[in-house]
Amino acid sequence: MIILVDMDDTIEQLLEAWVRRANEKYDRNVMLDEITSWNVAAPYTGLTRKQIYDVIYEKGFWESVKPMPGAAEALKHFMDEGHEVFIVTATEPEHVEEKMKGLLFRYFPFLSWSQVIITGRKQMIRGDVLIDDGIHNLEGGEYRKILFTAPHNRNYDAEANGMIRVRNWEEIVQMIDQMEKRERGALK
Ligand SMILES: [Mg+2]
Repeated sequence: MIILVDMDDTIEQLLEAWVRRANEKYDRNVMLDEITSWNVAAPYTGLTRKQIYDVIYEKGFWESVKPMPGAAEALKHFMDEGHEVFIVTATEPEHVEEKMKGLLFRYFPFLSWSQVIITGRKQMIRGDVLIDDGIHNLEGGEYRKILFTAPHNRNYDAEANGMIRVRNWEEIVQMIDQMEKRERGALK
């Protein structure tokens, strides 16, 4: 199978690092659960959106982002099983170098640059499945849709929209292994 995988808040914990740094910088105590939309600045009353978004442009920010537990093991497992894995990310030009060198290839050293696709239009990419926390990346795509749960998509009805909601990478591994078995069975 061709397995497409989002980066931010799917294989790494962007939001956790962002809130941690913004709290530190502006002396706040915002919790991850308070981020209920794409507007990360919303719970930071009295601060501008720009002040909060500036945080991710600070030098060294991406190096402070930690991998999602189990993600590296899962991607390695899929590749060992013979699947093709591609990271599909809407990474902005300013972030590419630090995010790739300081984060992706640091924690996922078995991936190569030829497995990275940078695009803001994931629906243009062909694959059997996309794993993503962004509803807008899954809607309308011609791939099977695995929604990685996140505070901002918590109230979305995944099942009603043809998506499978997962809470962690263990569930994803189970699901992909099952899909693989079903496809092999269908070919017999
Ligand atoms: Mg994401």
